[in-house]
Amino acid sequence: MLKNQFLPTTLIFFISVIAFFIFKNNFHLSYWFLSVLLFLFLIIQSLGAYFIQFNFHLTSINSTNTTEKKVVLTFDDGPHNPNTTKVLEVLKKHDVKALFCVIGKNIEGNESVLQQIINEGHQLANHSYSHAFWFDVWSTKKVTNDLAHCQQLINVYQASPKLFRPPYGVTNPNIAKAVKKLNLQSIGWNIRSYDTSTNDIEKIKQRIVSQLKPGSIILLHDRLEYMPQLLEILIPAIKEKGYCFSNINV
Ligand SMILES: [Zn+2]
Repeated sequence: MLKNQFLPTTLIFFISVIAFFIFKNNFHLSYWFLSVLLFLFLIIQSLGAYFIQFNFHLTSINSTNTTEKKVVLTFDDGPHNPNTTKVLEVLKKHDVKALFCVIGKNIEGNESVLQQIINEGHQLANHSYSHAFWFDVWSTKKVTNDLAHCQQLINVYQASPKLFRPPYGVTNPNIAKAVKKLNLQSIGWNIRSYDTSTNDIEKIKQRIVSQLKPGSIILLHDRLEYMPQLLEILIPAIKEKGYCFSNINV
């Protein structure tokens, strides 16, 4: 698995190769070879940014440290009215606690929904204030301000929130610096439901259940209209496999 430390190692390797070819005076070969290396470097960087599980740019909790059959449901992009409220109803009915990764700007106007999330024993995570399209190319300062704004809003409901779910699951060095500065803990997943790509709830359920492992963290979206119907078949299917639901300990 790729690690954060891989980045400086890679840079040192490339600088060494450049130095070698310059000293060999073989500029034609070095140009071709360095182009290939640069391409590979960019591919590695991009894969590291896209796959949060690689822990390439920052270390995320992608599964909980347990051998027991426990999983965590996580919901991104809320709070949404009325869909989050409907999701909460289903969770309450099945006595399941979950993690809600909320967008700061969505809290405004949905304060009662956020209060309900807390009152019913669920956890909150910072999913940025803006969830902006260009979030991943922002400077460290801009990312830090955005995350700090969301922290302030969440702090009203849950003291000292620690968890941060990167928007789009994308990570990069600037986001890593902002996370460190704000003393947050990135939270990823190891089961991506792809619930935003299809509304075939049977298919989504099968995809999740087939990947269950002790400590699995499942990515879902509470803003989706069909999420309550999905949960009505997903929760019993997970329980049938002998699993129960847990929170994230931070
Ligand atoms: Zn999101």
